[in-house]
Amino acid sequence: MHDVTASRDEIRRARIPCASAVASHFHNASVTAPFPLAIIATLHEYRYSAPLFETAGWAAMSVIAVGGFQHETNTFAPSKADYAAFASGGAWPELTFGDAIAPRLANANIPATGAFDALHAAGHRTVGLVWGAASPSAQVTEDAFEQIVGAMVERLAAAGPVDGVYLDLHGAMVTEHLDDGEGEILARVRRVVGPRVPIIGSLDLHANMTRAMMREADGFDAYRTYPHVDMAATGARAVFLLERMRKSGYPMAKAMRPLDFLTGLSSQSTFIEPGKRLYELLEKLEREHDTQLSFTPGFPMADFPECQMAVSGYGPDAGRVEKAVDALANAVHDAEHEFALDLFEPDAAVARAAQRGEPGAPVVLADTQDNPGAGGNGDTTGLLAALLQRNPRDAVLGLLIDRASALQAHAVGIGRTAPFKLGETSGVRGHVPLAGEFTVEALADGRFTCTGPMFKGFQMSLGPMAVLRQGNVRVVLASKKVQAADKAMFRHVGIEPREQRILALKSSVHFRADFQPIAKEILVVVAPGPAKADPTMFSWSRLRPGLRLKPGGPAFVPPAT
Ligand SMILES: [Zn+2]
Repeated sequence: MHDVTASRDEIRRARIPCASAVASHFHNASVTAPFPLAIIATLHEYRYSAPLFETAGWAAMSVIAVGGFQHETNTFAPSKADYAAFASGGAWPELTFGDAIAPRLANANIPATGAFDALHAAGHRTVGLVWGAASPSAQVTEDAFEQIVGAMVERLAAAGPVDGVYLDLHGAMVTEHLDDGEGEILARVRRVVGPRVPIIGSLDLHANMTRAMMREADGFDAYRTYPHVDMAATGARAVFLLERMRKSGYPMAKAMRPLDFLTGLSSQSTFIEPGKRLYELLEKLEREHDTQLSFTPGFPMADFPECQMAVSGYGPDAGRVEKAVDALANAVHDAEHEFALDLFEPDAAVARAAQRGEPGAPVVLADTQDNPGAGGNGDTTGLLAALLQRNPRDAVLGLLIDRASALQAHAVGIGRTAPFKLGETSGVRGHVPLAGEFTVEALADGRFTCTGPMFKGFQMSLGPMAVLRQGNVRVVLASKKVQAADKAMFRHVGIEPREQRILALKSSVHFRADFQPIAKEILVVVAPGPAKADPTMFSWSRLRPGLRLKPGGPAFVPPAT
């Protein structure tokens, strides 16, 4: 057993970012018991399942404030996230306040859910602040940010003294008035609770880690899976970090190391290499160095200086934290060329899928650049046009988000044919709706429950849905934006995904959780859309100079002003 404690002075002396700033957060210096590594080991037992703490010997009942404000901002996307977007939540639960938050989020794969469960299992009382999320899009409006964060800090102040704060954050929020939404949220929460109350956050794997976030929070834990099947487990891991700090009375040492290159979303999946191997290494290093680690490949669609991949870590010993963070960051650095990925033009992808797909083993085409999970509106028709052109057998595309066409299909009725103008509702210059005769094959109300590993239990309410057919190709329409990442989205309209030869999905990676097991092959397609698979395709202007725009790619040079 190694000595895993660090004195307050050691933490002050340690040459790690922010260590001195946080060294004075805790006043209970009398508790110095070391943490056996076994506690870290048990952490991993509930990575994929409902968390449960061993409460014996842990800190007595405390009051922990719980809030959440999640947004993933693609600064190149066509539509902003206003207050109404959070009020409705899109595929997420709607904006919720106070005591209503815990029951509203119960039993869902959501970080705050895992945090509530872990806190309650440990015997703590929770105070709900505000919890809200919206579909990825362009910037959060200033009005939405100020209203939601205003409610958060107001409720926190009204709650009186708390022993800790847990926040369910994404980590890539850009607003109309701020580059780093989360850094500002944390700073405002810090101003309310002061320096002696620990603030811990959970983060999306697509967090762009910033210096302000590292400075203002005492610790983070980010998802370790993409598709994100461990969202609730991540909330529980964040609480674990909070409990360790409260128990010891000391802040953790912390370190963060940004990487020098960006990667496209499609190559960040933990279902493929190098992600699979790197997250296994992360867990090995955690055990070896008694450090809680996060590897955040980032969200490579936000044009600001801290858009980046990073490795961060927290632990009682500054030297060991640095060692663990460095080892993982070096491994990511060495894997740079493995993050490169083959991309297919729409027609080439359809031609290949037509040859190889068969019922029982469809070829999946990922229409990644229109992914509603990355700022797309799910309304582009480039891949649909390529399918209609070749007309391959048993091909289905979904979900095309077009409320007007879905309503038209309901008016036309099943079995009848009519002219439709599909998609391209975002009003992007040069994009025109796809016109043609389609037959209405099925209609549905859009209300169903997801069944796949990532969205299991999510109650969908996608508004009027419809299936249209032209030749061998079917397109599934929905009225509300959501990423096609669950088989239930197709079964709801009478389509069994496994029986198709080609499945074209508006998703980058999340579909893999439910669809990779039935797919013969997955092709990442680059049909026109705002969520570029290759980060060099964006017109960047504000990145960190020298950052390579993709694995082995050109370094960013600020444009001449
Ligand atoms: Zn994500």
